[in-house]
Amino acid sequence: MAKTIYTMGVDVGSTASKALILKNGEEIVANAVVDVGAGTTGPKRSITKVLEAANLTMDDINYVTATGYGRNTLEEADFQMSELSCHAKGAYFLFPKVHTIIDIGGQDAKALKIGEGGVLENFVMNDKCAAGTGRFLDVIARVLEVDVSDLDDLDENSTEDVSISSTCTVFAESEVISQLAEGKKIEDIVKGIHSAIAARVSSLAKRVGVKDDVVMTGGVALNEGMVRALERSLNHDIKTSEYCQLNGALGAAIFANQKYQQKLLKEKQASK
Ligand code: ADP
Repeated sequence: MAKTIYTMGVDVGSTASKALILKNGEEIVANAVVDVGAGTTGPKRSITKVLEAANLTMDDINYVTATGYGRNTLEEADFQMSELSCHAKGAYFLFPKVHTIIDIGGQDAKALKIGEGGVLENFVMNDKCAAGTGRFLDVIARVLEVDVSDLDDLDENSTEDVSISSTCTVFAESEVISQLAEGKKIEDIVKGIHSAIAARVSSLAKRVGVKDDVVMTGGVALNEGMVRALERSLNHDIKTSEYCQLNGALGAAIFANQKYQQKLLKEKQASK
């Protein structure tokens, strides 16, 4: 019987560390998210957590690929791969008809154009400004004294439109504070914030072209209120999965499997 191959993908993000273990390149065995990222103990903790969840040790893992903002600092990695390639790989694995990926992480937002066979054809990125990223939502959630995981329910309970005109995070923060002072409902402010981010991110996405299936990845995709706002703004259905925040780690684990297969093949040829 063929030996089981376990590979690990670790996404050392700006805001969160994600690790995922794949069996034989096709079955997700376990995953872990630690909500601190590059430069912290987060990456190592995500590895410990995912190994525990899979009931495996590092000796059982055949190959590790690191991706994300802090990928070059992960000692455990056999190989590093860019986030863009990993997101394309992960999304294609989950949604083979993907043509557009919108990834909103803690510190940047990206739109990727995917060709047939999951090939990355083009991308645009906003990493210069916090507006339109998870950081913007983190800041606003703090001002509203709610958790980012509450934003979806709050958005759903909005009854009145509130428009947020500031595109800068710092100005939007003061705008939200004055709207609270005017007695505007938190639910309506949250929906207004989602619409403001959606407007920004959809103009990014339109630059690469929006074509079904449109897949949203990154931690912000856990916020369904944000997904609905983007659907309204783009006028397209958006697909997400329970692995949206782990999409980069998933792609990295798939690359790790491919790398390991290549290594086995080379060893076999060398021994002939
Ligand atoms: P990075 O790869 O840059 O570290 P992630 O893709 O992990 O970023 O996304 C982090 C962002 O995801 C955070 O800034 C936060 O706004 C958002 N997020 C994380 N968990 C949740 C949740 N349960 N609900 C809504 N948003 C979330």
